[in-house]
Amino acid sequence: MTILSSFVRRASGAFSGSSTYSRLLVLCTLSLSGGGLVAYSESQSEPGSPASEHGEKEREKKRVVLLGTGWAGISFLKDLDVSSYDVQVVSPQNYFAFTPLLPSVTCGTVEARSIAEPVRNIIKKRNAEIQFWEAEAIKIDAAKNEVFCKSNIDKETRDFSLEYDYLIIAVGAQVNTFGTPGVLENCHFLKELEDAQKIRRTVTDCFEKAVLPGLSEEERKRNLHFVIVGGGPTGVEFAAELHDYIQEDLINLYPTVKDLVRITLIQSGDHILNSFDERISSFAEKKFQRDGIEVLTECRVVNVSDKEITMKIKSTGAVCSIPHGLVLWSTGVGTRPAIKDFMEQIGQGKRRVLATNEWLRVKECENVYALGDCATIDQRKVMEDISTIFAAADKDNSGTLTVEEFQDVIDDILIRYPQVELYLKNKHLNDVTDLLKDPQGNPRREVDIEGFTLALSHVDTQMKSLPATAQVAAQQGAYLARNFNRRQQCIEHPEGPRRFRGLGRHHFRPFRYKHFGQFAPLGGEQAAAELPGDWVSMGHSTQWLWYSVYASKQVSWRTRVLVVSDWTRRFIFGRDSSRI
Ligand code: FAD
Ligand code: MG
Repeated sequence: MTILSSFVRRASGAFSGSSTYSRLLVLCTLSLSGGGLVAYSESQSEPGSPASEHGEKEREKKRVVLLGTGWAGISFLKDLDVSSYDVQVVSPQNYFAFTPLLPSVTCGTVEARSIAEPVRNIIKKRNAEIQFWEAEAIKIDAAKNEVFCKSNIDKETRDFSLEYDYLIIAVGAQVNTFGTPGVLENCHFLKELEDAQKIRRTVTDCFEKAVLPGLSEEERKRNLHFVIVGGGPTGVEFAAELHDYIQEDLINLYPTVKDLVRITLIQSGDHILNSFDERISSFAEKKFQRDGIEVLTECRVVNVSDKEITMKIKSTGAVCSIPHGLVLWSTGVGTRPAIKDFMEQIGQGKRRVLATNEWLRVKECENVYALGDCATIDQRKVMEDISTIFAAADKDNSGTLTVEEFQDVIDDILIRYPQVELYLKNKHLNDVTDLLKDPQGNPRREVDIEGFTLALSHVDTQMKSLPATAQVAAQQGAYLARNFNRRQQCIEHPEGPRRFRGLGRHHFRPFRYKHFGQFAPLGGEQAAAELPGDWVSMGHSTQWLWYSVYASKQVSWRTRVLVVSDWTRRFIFGRDSSRI
């Protein structure tokens, strides 16, 4: 172990400070996998400032308070030029968790500590004085630029408050029970590392209980019935992991009850994995059918008790109950209470999710930004601005827009309103001026405001909100850090599109998400992947792609080595079923 750790130290030491290496790693991964999550590397992209810069000078720096150390927060922290700001980080978790491997932790394929990186390790590598407080933000006072925090280690510890010049909210989301009775009390969730560890213990408990003497067959069956609510990627991946764990390890350890085990997946929609390509959904459904995982679609869970789960079958309206030993609830996400309270304060109380503009700045706040799962970008519609776009484009104030006048503003329109480009792509229009053609498809030299409105009237139908994924969160963190790093430069030389409803240009370009594809591991060393360019790949080779992408995306060389060694251990010795 000492030899291994010293090797890892030397290996990572050889790479630290080399931005070329980081880029090479990302490039290799992208070319291998066609993408995936945004990579993190141990080496820094920009050297931080020496700690000696603190003290008197510190007070001159603007204070940035970052809430949350998940995908969005850590990505922001990693890319921020920390020498220019007084950075203070608040999070109830003093580590970053690599969430895509949480389902593997539930069955011991990977150990919990292998996917966690202490925040203080990450801070140390930034080589600057960043303050970290292990606490929860309980209230944000937007009027006073202050955030109130509570330590969750020791209830005796006094609450404290932090003033900020800029606040970055990256607190993620919490589970959403949709008000279903009994869910909070009787279901497991899979959002945090602790959740995964609890599930691992409960699975073992279910088997140990099922083999105790004196139980009826019904009781044994109930204990060994594992129910998953939600057919999204988390639910499907957990079902697949659990099936492998049972087939590869547990039935050999508990042979007397091996025929009583059942896994049921309940989905309210008509297919599982419905955010994926249809080919992947049907591949997953067929694989689960072969594996004996029961998939109940078009069913809505209405109640969960400690022993039974009750659901309504949508087509017939019939209500039925099934006994369970463990229920995993993985259906969508909701807003955290501190954010709900903040939304009320700033007049967003009626919204479901905190809204930001396209630059990730919280609407109605000058100096508060929100990113990741806790927020959504409220993309401005072209139709809301159509008359101001027309007026800005009609340079000669003739009341009509010529093709040349339109061409003059089109680049700014495409940057400001990404839905226009999506619309052109979906309609297979090669040239933006094709938009100005008359309804019969004939080119027009010029259009008036009615013609212009009609030409762009359908583009807003292409607006889609971004998915709540690590990919989005990490890209947003990096984007915001870049903007913070170049704030002064971009105020002097704005790089954004022209302001159609004001003067001049926006300082920055709006956030643009780049989708690198997504994976769904399906068990039995098979996975499905959706890659850019409408590429779909399924089967055993895709599982190897999954292994290589997820190994390379680890936050540090330490966790990378731990994860790969866990996988190797599992191949050789199987999973550990001790209830620890
Ligand atoms: P999080 O990563 O959840 O981080 C939130 C942070 O805020 C945490 O550090 C938390 O401790 C902290 N926090 C919470 N409350 C407070 C508070 N009051 N004050 C201060 N800090 C607070 N996405 C993918 O792209 N690919 C995948 O394969 C994938 N698999 C997933 C598998 C599972 C099981 C799960 C649960 C999610 C998966 N996701 C995946 C989604 C991805 O994990 C989330 O979209 C991502 O974590 C969102 O990042 P975030 O930074 O917004 O929130
Ligand atoms: Mg004109």
